[in-house]
Amino acid sequence: MLSNKNAIITGGSRGIGRAIAKEFASKGASVALIYGGNKEAAQETVAELEKMGAKALAYQCDVSSFEETKKAVEKILEDFSHIDILVNNAGITKDGLLLTMDDESFTSVLDTNLKGSFYMIKHLYSHMMRRRQGRIINISSVSGLMGNPGQANYSSAKAGVIGLTKTVAKELAGRNVTCNAIAPGFIETDMTESLSDKVKETALGLIPLKRMGKPEEVAKLAAFLASDDSSYITGQVIKVDGGLYI
Ligand code: NAP
Repeated sequence: MLSNKNAIITGGSRGIGRAIAKEFASKGASVALIYGGNKEAAQETVAELEKMGAKALAYQCDVSSFEETKKAVEKILEDFSHIDILVNNAGITKDGLLLTMDDESFTSVLDTNLKGSFYMIKHLYSHMMRRRQGRIINISSVSGLMGNPGQANYSSAKAGVIGLTKTVAKELAGRNVTCNAIAPGFIETDMTESLSDKVKETALGLIPLKRMGKPEEVAKLAAFLASDDSSYITGQVIKVDGGLYI
């Protein structure tokens, strides 16, 4: 259960983030969701969470900006008074083979996926340390574990998220703050919807469970890692990938 817990979920407006927000709300948590630019999706998610009886507010904020994330965290702390759980889920892809991948594609994917997680943790860690409790969950990817042709930027960012997770786990353990990463495989969201049928078919052929995962299947693990039941787990990377990377 997550009753009386307050959570921040970046990228909580769509896809995996929305599923995590709904799972948390179903377990009694209040949710501050951060979104990039799609206000409609954010409002839709807030309405769904409110219908479930949860307190939910949405904040527009580019997680790749130090200043914007700082302001958003300050505002969220005003609105929610304390935060127990941070889920760094906001992410983008800009796929392309090395031959064609330009500096902007590489940098922007790192800035959103990796620096965005660093900024959010940076703005919240002293709050969590003071309270001597906290759960940080970073959404990585099997791409960060295996590498993936066409994803030099994304694999690097998601591998970086794993390094960040392990270091944060070690630095904050003394204050009872845990930090773990989830590495999803192929999950049915807008992000994978845009892949070509050929890429999807190839991916399916590599997945022992022979299907793509659902955002709700990632959300179940996030809820466990956010709960008191995971109190002795920190610094781990847990895959939700149908066996793609065994
Ligand atoms: P998605 O459906 O594309 O949703 C992405 C979410 O991130 C949206 O809420 C979006 O908000 C937000 N976002 C993007 N850039 C942002 C920024 N600069 N600042 C703030 N918010 C931003 O993606 P998803 O498939 O649910 O993926 C969620 C996470 O799981 C990502 O970290 C992704 O890398 C990871 N992942 C996904 C898969 C998969 O198969 N889907 C597999 C492995 C890992 P707006 O709509 O407002 O832009």
